[in-house]
Amino acid sequence: MYPRIRPVLDDIPVYTPGKALSGLVKLSSNENPFPPLPGVLERATAAATNLHRYPDLAATELTAELARHLSVPAETLAVGTGSVGVLQQIVQSVAQLGDEVVYPWRSFEAYPIVTRIAGATQVEVPLTPAAALDLPAMADAVTERTKLVLVCSPNNPTGPAVRRAEFSDFLGRIPEDVLVVLDEAYVEFVRDPEVVNGLDLFAAHANLCLLRTFSKAYGLAGLRVGYAIAHPPVAAALRKCAVPFGVSTIAQLAAIESLRCEDAMRARVSAVVGERTRVRSGLIEQGWQVPETEANFVWLPLAGRTGDFAAACQRSGLLVRPYAPDGCRVTIGGPAENDLFLRVAAEWRSSEVAA
Ligand SMILES: *Cc1c(COP(=O)(O)O)cnc(C)c1O
Repeated sequence: MYPRIRPVLDDIPVYTPGKALSGLVKLSSNENPFPPLPGVLERATAAATNLHRYPDLAATELTAELARHLSVPAETLAVGTGSVGVLQQIVQSVAQLGDEVVYPWRSFEAYPIVTRIAGATQVEVPLTPAAALDLPAMADAVTERTKLVLVCSPNNPTGPAVRRAEFSDFLGRIPEDVLVVLDEAYVEFVRDPEVVNGLDLFAAHANLCLLRTFSKAYGLAGLRVGYAIAHPPVAAALRKCAVPFGVSTIAQLAAIESLRCEDAMRARVSAVVGERTRVRSGLIEQGWQVPETEANFVWLPLAGRTGDFAAACQRSGLLVRPYAPDGCRVTIGGPAENDLFLRVAAEWRSSEVAA
């Protein structure tokens, strides 16, 4: 006989991380192929001498740096343990049993998990045939029970991003007391000038909350720092729902130092974006259908052959991320890693044509 666990947990999928096997090329977790930015490791290791102290609960210096960097008031910021941690704070702040959370599907696998943990009801809105978010359908899915709408742009794992004009129309259709979260984990990788940047719309919409992270463009996935930009009453609620002292001193200082390396960050992101263009063109030349991507990954809509493709990649020393039964997501890595992926993809195509 064991203690009783909330029955809702029975239906919660376990978060499946991208595989990591030593000796294999890992393109399964949307990580940055570059190491931490210059000076970050030094700052982080120096901070390790203070491991017997609690971190600054309010992340005061990081919050001030972010406020300057983003030109937003510090009171609009809430920092957390990765943007997934902040997302959990968001859901806990607005949704409980019986409430509905609307989000696209297929999208970020944390969305159903944090929704269910809060006891709220998932309302999943299918993507368009181009693997993009269907914002009109998402607006249609909002009811009087909806407390939260999650918009992922660019969408993980498929790649397309939301355009500014469609997002404005969408916001116009969402009741003002429903929180809209624009998850911009990959915003630094966006090149299409028509794609929305949440900061441009933030001031005009009291129900808009932006979600950003140091895990992708800044290359700090292992340290767990993310933040929300939300209007003061929402940001205050998010801070209340944070795990106290969740963001370590090392993480806070590494994030501050990373913000000071903006030029180096942009150069690295440009290199990844260049590789993204090369990889996607190469795949299209091979005959693959690849949705647009504004992020650091490409999507192969393999449907029923998703698992087979991931296994074929692994046999060639490459880890990709299968999302059966929809497709595989492949992160853009360094040039040699991407060459390996293109080789495996070409072999797969020729075996398919032969079959
Ligand atoms: C990677 C990712 C995040 C960020 O996760 P962290 O917790 O900050 O590492 C958030 N949203 C989406 C859509 C992502 O792909």
